Amino acid sequence: MKASNNFFRLETRLQSQVGKAIADFNMIEDGDKILTCMSGGKDSYTMLSVLLALQKRAPIDFEIIAMNLDQKHPGFPEEILPQYFESIGVKYRIVEADTHSIVKEKVPEGKTTCSLCSRLRRGVIYRTAKELGANKIALGHHRDDIVETFFLNLFFGGKMKAMPPKLATDDGAHIVIRPLAYCKESDIATYARAMEYPIIPCDLCGSQENLQRKKVKDMLTQWERDTPGRVDNVFRALSDVVPSHLADTSLFDFRALASGLAKIDEASLFGDTSYTQTALVFSHSSENRIEFVRPAARAAAPDVSATAANTADA
Ligand code: SF4
Repeated sequence: MKASNNFFRLETRLQSQVGKAIADFNMIEDGDKILTCMSGGKDSYTMLSVLLALQKRAPIDFEIIAMNLDQKHPGFPEEILPQYFESIGVKYRIVEADTHSIVKEKVPEGKTTCSLCSRLRRGVIYRTAKELGANKIALGHHRDDIVETFFLNLFFGGKMKAMPPKLATDDGAHIVIRPLAYCKESDIATYARAMEYPIIPCDLCGSQENLQRKKVKDMLTQWERDTPGRVDNVFRALSDVVPSHLADTSLFDFRALASGLAKIDEASLFGDTSYTQTALVFSHSSENRIEFVRPAARAAAPDVSATAANTADA
């Protein structure tokens, strides 16, 4: 597969999607030191491969340091990632932090452990970035993760909020980037299989997969099966937001709207933007009546004064 045309097309697509995301969000700049977080899953391996490929031909200089956080999950094969990093000759750092035992101790049996675990992991990653002088932190979330997060927030948090391709950490010290933001999970999975990465299983922590995320994932899979391209549409919508057509008063000053000041594209309120403008035209009005007619009908319309006179006579 690796030598096939399909593979090269897939690799080119992933590289160009990452390149576009980097350009659209100004993710990487000259002199950046990027801590590239590696879990050992398909997404992080793909991210690292694509970043290294782009680094070779980028017109700017930036440094990549692969990092794996060993959270001390039982059975974690700690030799796999160092061996892989050595084999491809990338700079790397393995960080050991026993977040697993903290999570086990603090979270009651049967409760979901992901929230505390991710908070602890985030803290360690930020501290490592500081230690290593990295100004950027790259995470391997992709388009489908972003759309899933959007629906999770919508359904369970009542918020129109997803997972940003780029964000500043709370203390402003680092920028987190998600170079795979435009890449489809299915493409990444195919690429990872072809690359034969030494994947580390993701269930070593013993946590149940987040049930709601799984439900949303299943929902999106079904949608995609029924209507191919729908997930892409949802993702595109995230980058084409129209605050004046939502209801968030902090994003759009509805209170200040007044006739004569409107900036809203009225036609879009009614759907078809070109047809609705011309399908009906203003014809005439009398005291308590306004009429719009189809242009052809207006041409053939009887004289208004005659109509008014006839009506009065009747
Ligand atoms: S799945 Fe496991 S490792 Fe991942 S966030 Fe949840 S508890 Fe942590």
